Amino acid sequence: MQSEPKPEPKSEKGKATRIIHNRRHKDSLGSPYSPVYNTTTYRFANTASLQDVIEGRTPGNLYTRWGSNPTIRELEQGLAGLEDSESALAFASGMAAISATLFAHGRNGIVCVGDLYGGTQELLTKHLEPLGIPVTFLLQNESDQLTNALNKPGMLVYCETPANPTLGILDIRELAQRAHTKGAFFAVDNTFASPINQCPLALGADISVHSATKYLGGHSDLTAGAVMASAERIQPIAQWRKNLGQILAPETAALLSRSLRTLPVRVRQHNDNAMAVAQAMASHPAIKRVLYPGLPDFPGHSLAAQQMDGFGGVLTLEIKGDREQAEKVADSLQIFLLATSLGGVESLVSQPCATSHHGISRKERERRGITDSMLRLSVGLEDAKDLIADLKQALAQL
Ligand code: PLP
Repeated sequence: MQSEPKPEPKSEKGKATRIIHNRRHKDSLGSPYSPVYNTTTYRFANTASLQDVIEGRTPGNLYTRWGSNPTIRELEQGLAGLEDSESALAFASGMAAISATLFAHGRNGIVCVGDLYGGTQELLTKHLEPLGIPVTFLLQNESDQLTNALNKPGMLVYCETPANPTLGILDIRELAQRAHTKGAFFAVDNTFASPINQCPLALGADISVHSATKYLGGHSDLTAGAVMASAERIQPIAQWRKNLGQILAPETAALLSRSLRTLPVRVRQHNDNAMAVAQAMASHPAIKRVLYPGLPDFPGHSLAAQQMDGFGGVLTLEIKGDREQAEKVADSLQIFLLATSLGGVESLVSQPCATSHHGISRKERERRGITDSMLRLSVGLEDAKDLIADLKQALAQL
């Protein structure tokens, strides 16, 4: 457990101010917002000037798949500002961001700590391991084995915190220290926390990745991903993005930039609503356990309080009952939508054993503390009292 204070952000201005005023664009018509450059290519006056851009002698746009598009660059400037990183890249999905990061920095071997999103787990086991990339999975309580698992230089340590669906909290500072001592880089999937609640780079991580489909987009209407890191770490990831063709469309980039401007206020409300729901459910007679980092009796609470600025909008309920009864509760909810994903304005419910973790055997789920009677809630921006009433009426059906 660490006792150091959180490092001060590099900029003097607050995050919300920076997010809203980070544009360099000066519009000739006076619009505070940039136009959307919905183009794939750019014309040049002559071949010599085209070659100057291709060969890097002059800056300029060439081809959107390479990431050279003013709308995408403006989004990336905004993404970098969110976590005070030197550089950022936008992607067509969270999995695109994760796969480019793993290809660029994980080829000497990857050690994963704690629970991972099912898609990341599948990428690692079904694709990267068969390509000859050694992958080790450590449970959260096995993180003391990390130093031994890093058995050659240039490996990558990878984790999610808070993790899905147990909301397990890992110590970012400690993992970064262990990784760096063994010459490894450390990447954190920061999707569940969002940059408003947690900045892995400021805590010592080298790379922060996001499914921007979740809180960054925030309205369940776009699919995108992001990577924040130093320019040096970003450069090889950009090469993979270019050659795997993982760029997002300029229109999606503009929509995501629009969403970022309300990110601080949305996330603060997600935090407040989730806390209200967690507290109400903690004393409900039909609930066995509430997993939420904001509750004082949650095992990772004090660590979360140190390394996070808010506890997030996702929580997991374990009901007193079996899989069928948990299913009945999910099916009886009227405001919470029965759907996968998280981070949108609307509240969602899903049963991990039937959705995100259905591909994992029951034995392995149990080893990871994931039971059949768990329901994961992504708490949205509705009135908290209505969400609590909805949960109570659904639990009354048991
Ligand atoms: N990381 C986490 C923690 C996720 O929950 C998800 C999707 O649910 C992803 C990554 C993948 O994101 P996307 O669906 O945008 O590819």
